[in-house]
Formats: sequence, C-alpha cells, structure tokens
Amino acid sequence: DAKRSGRGRSVVYASSLGAASRRMHTVEQALREGLAQGQFELHFQPKVDARSLQALGVEALMRWEHPVLGSISPGEFIPAAERCGLIHELGVLALQQACQAARELRELNVAVNVSPLQLMDPGFVSSVERILRGAGVAPRLLHLEVTESLMLEDAPAALKRLHALRELGVQVALDDFGTGFSSLAYLRAFPFHTLKIDRSFVRSLTEHADARAIVNTIVKMARVLGMRTVAEGVESERELAVVRAIQCDEVQGYLVARPMPLTKLRDWLAGRPVTGPVDEVDSRIMP
Ligand code: C2E
Ligand code: MG
Ligand code: MG
Ligand code: MG
Repeated sequence: DAKRSGRGRSVVYASSLGAASRRMHTVEQALREGLAQGQFELHFQPKVDARSLQALGVEALMRWEHPVLGSISPGEFIPAAERCGLIHELGVLALQQACQAARELRELNVAVNVSPLQLMDPGFVSSVERILRGAGVAPRLLHLEVTESLMLEDAPAALKRLHALRELGVQVALDDFGTGFSSLAYLRAFPFHTLKIDRSFVRSLTEHADARAIVNTIVKMARVLGMRTVAEGVESERELAVVRAIQCDEVQGYLVARPMPLTKLRDWLAGRPVTGPVDEVDSRIMP
C-alpha cells in the first residue's frame, strides 16, 4: 500500500516536472520570436524624494506581452533569457528604450537593471557608451542596477567593468540590498552611488524593532560612504513614515506609483505638483 501511494506521488511529481520544463522550453522558444517582433516594452516606476515626494527618476522594468501566452513576468523571462543567451539582446533593447525615454524625461534619471551575464561581456561598456551617445543622453542620467550575485561569478572582471562605467559618468546602484550574504563586503569592494534596500527589509521595518535598527545603521553607514539610499517596495503610509524616520533618501513603491508605460508616466508627471512642504505630502500622495 505504502509502495503504491509512494509510486503515485512520484508520478505526480514527474508529470509536474514535465510541465515545468515544457513551459521553460516554450518560453525560451517564444523569446527569440518576441524579440524579433517587438513584443518587449519598458515600463517605468517613479523614484521620489522621501521627504518632498518630488520625482527624481524612474526605474525601467521590462514587460512582455505575448500574443498567445499573455503577459509573462520578468521573474520568468529574465532567467529564461539568461539560460538561452538572449539576455544580451534583451539588455541592449532595455538600454535603448531607456535612453529614448531619458531624452524626454529631461532631468529625471533612468535606472536600468543589468544581468550579471551582461557585465561579464567584455563589450558591455562600449555598448553602453554607444547607446548613450546615439541617444544624446548625458551619462549621469543613466543608472545601472546590479545585484550582489554579480560578483560571485567573476569578481575582478565585473569590478573592472563597473569602474569603467563609473568613469564614463554612469551611476551604479546595488539592487536588492539585504537579500544576499556578503553585502558589506561588496560595499567595500566597489563604490556604489546608490544602495537600494530590498522590499523584504522595508516590509519588516514596521513590525520589528531589530530590523529597524539594522536598516537605520545601513542608512547611516551609506551616508558615511557617500551613497544615496532608496527604499524599495513601499506600499503603505506606515512604511513611508518609518522610511522617513530613518532618513532614507528616496522611496519607490506602489504607494507612490506602480510601473507604467511611458505614455502614462507623462500624465503622471504632468499631474504632479511641484515640491511643497512636507506636511502637505500625505494628502497628495494617493491617487
Ligand atoms: P527589481 O529590480 O528589484 O525591481 C523591483 C520589482 O519590485 C519590480 O518587479 C517592481 O514591479 C516591483 N515592485 C515595485 N514596487 C513594489 C511594491 O510596492 N510592492 C511590490 N510587491 N512590488 C513592487 P518586476 O517588474 O516584476 O521585476 C522583477 C525583477 O526582474 C526586477 O527586480 C529585476 O531584477 C528583474 N528585471 C525587470 N526588468 C529587467 C530588465 O530589463 N533587465 C534585467 N536584467 N532584469 C530585469
Ligand atoms: Mg532594480
Ligand atoms: Mg530590487
Ligand atoms: Mg528584485
């Protein structure tokens, strides 16, 4: 009996594994065609000053709407693109679309997520330079977001490229800070311009005094090291209040705005009041 149910379970397991790997294959196949047919489009999520809520920049997030499969999340297609080598092409597309947007967003910076695999490509820095020049965008307006996993792969080469990007005038942000294991080591290894505190940390801020103490220390340390801090995934007024209390510089999250297409972003920015007193802020933040 036990044997039979054991076998039953393994059959279920094997068939769901089969479904998962079929899906992976489908997505990888569809990627190539999707790129050729222009199915990928950046959306933009505002980053605002934590105190005044004035927009300072946007993060570019890739969206994929497949005519048959529907919308596929970056959490699924980015790893797929990394597996099948299309991440470089997708990465160039993101940089091009982001730089086009930067032209019309004028003084707002545009942050683009970069896969570790892109930074392992020896041609990456010159391709960034070419795209910036082609679009006529000032390098300081381009921010590149990298994660800690980057440096596990090939630290010296990746660091060299990050330094070259810095010299170009591009800003470099450490994304998802607090989710990795050796965060502090990375901060010593490379002078990031910005530290993005992961939303899992932000979430725990309102609930746990120890999390608050840790993030508070991180923010102070970042300031000493000359880095700006961004709180990611701020969803509530309570979270915003704590983020302000620990003097985080910038805020990004659903409370302020969700990622949106460029056309929507134009309206969002146009309907935005110029910076005012901080105590007027709470009534202005909600749509
Ligand atoms: P990320 O860079 O950490 O981006 C932040 C993610 O959090 C985005 O998810 C965003 O939509 C989501 N988010 C923002 N505010 C909130 C909030 O208040 N609450 C919640 N629950 N979520 C919020 P998204 O767009 O699904 O992207 C997921 C990840 O995929 C990104 O994480 C990034 O690592 C990667 N990604 C997205 N676009 C690109 C791209 O063009 N290139 C590369 N290499 N990676 C990308
Ligand atoms: Mg990011
Ligand atoms: Mg992040
Ligand atoms: Mg993330």
